Amino acid sequence: MFVKPCHGIVTSLYSNSRLDPVEKEVVRPHWGMDYGTHSDNTIAAAASGTIRFIDNTKNGKTGFGKYVVITHSNGWETLYAHLSSITVKVGQNVGQGQKIGVKGTTGNSTGIHLHFEISKGRWTNQYTHHVNPALYIDDPDVRHLQQMLNVLGYKVTVDGLYGNEVVKVVAAYQKANKLVADGVAGRVTMAAVEKSFASVAKPTPPPKKEEIRLFKPSSPTLNTSMIDKIEKATKDKVLQDPKWLAQAKAGTLSLDDALALSVYIDGNK
Ligand SMILES: [Zn+2]
Repeated sequence: MFVKPCHGIVTSLYSNSRLDPVEKEVVRPHWGMDYGTHSDNTIAAAASGTIRFIDNTKNGKTGFGKYVVITHSNGWETLYAHLSSITVKVGQNVGQGQKIGVKGTTGNSTGIHLHFEISKGRWTNQYTHHVNPALYIDDPDVRHLQQMLNVLGYKVTVDGLYGNEVVKVVAAYQKANKLVADGVAGRVTMAAVEKSFASVAKPTPPPKKEEIRLFKPSSPTLNTSMIDKIEKATKDKVLQDPKWLAQAKAGTLSLDDALALSVYIDGNK
C-alpha cells in the first residue's frame, strides 16, 4: 500500500531505544525512520489520501519542524517531518507519489533528512498505533543493498524491506569490516558495501589465450630444410596429415609442433 516517500538511503531505523542525535546521551524511542539527503529531495505521499494536518512553523514545540500528516484508506496515517517547505494544504486530496513538500532540517534535526512515520490508525505523538515503516516500504535502495550483500556471501532475502534479518546481516558485515555494528546501512556502511561489491563483482576477463610461438628459424636455409624434411616425410607417409606441410610452407607452424615433428620424423624414418 505504501511506497517510499522520497529518494535517499535509510539513515536511522525505527527503534524502541535510540541514542538521541540532538540531545546526546539521551536514549528514547524513534518511532519512524529517517531517509538522508539526496540530489532530489522531493517528498511525495506514500499512499493516496487527504492532507489532515500541517504544521508550517519552523520551530514548533513538537520537534518535528514543518510537518505533514496524511490520512489514507482504512484510517492509516503517515507523517513527514523536518520539511524545508510544504506544497499542499489541509483538506487537499493527494495521489500516491504526489509531491507534498521538500526535505529539510527544521525542528530537532542535525541535518537534511526526512523523518517518516506510519500509524495504523489516527496519528498522534502518543504513538499508540505506530508500526515500523521499514516493514511496509519496498525500498529500491534496500533491494540494491540486499543484492550486494548476497553477492558478498551474506544470505539475505531480497525484498526491499529493512527488517530484522537485514539489521542482523548489516551488523555482521559491519563487524567483519570494523565499522560501528549498529545494523544501519548509513552513508559509511553503504560506501563500504559498494566498495566490497565492486571489488568482487568485476566481470571476469576471458582467459588469456596461451601464446603460440611460431617456428621462426634464424636463417632461410634452416626453414627450407625443415620444409623439405616435412615434405619428404609426408610423401613417404611417415606423416599422414597434409596440414603439417601446409603450415610449414605458410609459416604458421608452431615452434612446439616443429620440434615434435622433427623428433617424430627422425624416429620413424
Ligand atoms: Zn527520525
